[in-house]
Amino acid sequence: MKQKLKKNRQRCSSNKKILRQIPSIDKILNEPEIKEFSNIIDPQYLTALIRNNINEYRKRLIAGEQFDVINLKQNIVQALHDILNPYFCYAINATGIVLHTGLGRAPVNIRMASGLKALSLGYIRLQIDDEGRRTDRHLRINRLLHILTGTEAGMIVNNNAAATLLILNTLAKNREVIISRGQLIEIGGSFRIPEMLAQSGALMKEVGTTNRTHLRDYEHAINDNTAALLRVHQSNYRITGFTKQVSLGELVMLGKKYAIPVIHDLGSGALIDFSKFGLPKEPVAQESIKTGADIVCFSGDKLIGGPQCGIIIGKRKYIEKLKKNPLARVLRSDKFTSALLETTLQLFLLNRSEVIKNHSVLSMLLRPLPSIKRQAMRCANYIKKHLGPHVDVSVDPSVSEIGGGSLSTEELPTYVVSIKPNNMRVDDLARALRQYRTPVFGRVKGGNFFLDFRTVLKGEEKIIIEALTTILKSR
Ligand SMILES: *Cc1c(COP(=O)(O)O)cnc(C)c1O
Repeated sequence: MKQKLKKNRQRCSSNKKILRQIPSIDKILNEPEIKEFSNIIDPQYLTALIRNNINEYRKRLIAGEQFDVINLKQNIVQALHDILNPYFCYAINATGIVLHTGLGRAPVNIRMASGLKALSLGYIRLQIDDEGRRTDRHLRINRLLHILTGTEAGMIVNNNAAATLLILNTLAKNREVIISRGQLIEIGGSFRIPEMLAQSGALMKEVGTTNRTHLRDYEHAINDNTAALLRVHQSNYRITGFTKQVSLGELVMLGKKYAIPVIHDLGSGALIDFSKFGLPKEPVAQESIKTGADIVCFSGDKLIGGPQCGIIIGKRKYIEKLKKNPLARVLRSDKFTSALLETTLQLFLLNRSEVIKNHSVLSMLLRPLPSIKRQAMRCANYIKKHLGPHVDVSVDPSVSEIGGGSLSTEELPTYVVSIKPNNMRVDDLARALRQYRTPVFGRVKGGNFFLDFRTVLKGEEKIIIEALTTILKSR
């Protein structure tokens, strides 16, 4: 104990010496490696960056960390490179989580990619017609949504949370919205139905119990101040056993009887019935419209596989009301979103087999197990042959996740490449892969690094192998 204290004191006093040795900003600016940057970065920002680093360095020294002046210089050079390089960049998802929030949920697909490229040339036709007149940016998306779902009208906003807020604020501010207690859900990232209702200014009228809600519960709660009946897809959890939820059809009948609109929050939303492919059923947008929901909303970047947005469809009179709400301007999505959603929706117009082939999320969800296994085996064999002494490698069965609060009780069987490095810690390997030129994200568990090939796109195994080779051989 005493020795430890002494050591600490020694370190602190040597740190004090180093503190005094911290070079001045001017001196650092004159170091050749840093001087190079003065031709690139504006002097005021270069100075600010260096000052930040020195302050950070000083703080860490005072906290007793061991550091020397060489580290400081290296850190500054690193920070200068870092600030000039894109953080938002193409990355490889080998986590097996198809809708990975940290990696931007749905991946860009081939069509979106060519759309993005075309958009990067300059201006974009967004809301102007052939006569040069200003039009409504939602018209084009509307048209596609009409064909795909049979809706009267539609619009998009920033995300599905924004859609929910806009709908409730427009239709139910200072009035009551009836919802089943079994549907008062929380999605990750602080989206909670009761809080969203409160923010919108609507008054929540909960009915039924957690596991069972009957039609009569809704009917008893209806009064003169009732503005809407809200049905929310449970998304990321399931209640099993002695349960009952009122169907959308029954709610629609009740709504009609009392002339109260029915709102259906689908969560992920689907334009294709997943149960036809052996996956569990997610609510299908066109079915909600057909059943007679007045307003339906869902995310653009969950199972739809498009850009981040909230898609709202339903009866024209309600959509028009939503568009007139000043909040619609606040929650508006940007031009790139409209363009990317257009290409995503156009994809759904194609033959089913083409949709599945070209739609990244669908093709990942439906990817046959033997195909995943083959890709994993190829990768593992290469690693064994070329990086053999550095790692132990095997191909093992595992499970992928869908993520994004979609079909989330469903586990998808998969195969992973398991890597156990021999001369570095598995956490260091994972970090080095994340820091690679093209960042590679995998799973770490129990001393192993796992690459799940369900979410690895064609050709990406080459980059993974290149990254592993660079990292392991530099050891
Ligand atoms: C995911 C989800 C939301 C939120 O959608 P975002 O697009 O993430 O804003 C809202 N409601 C339900 C039921 C969801 O599953």
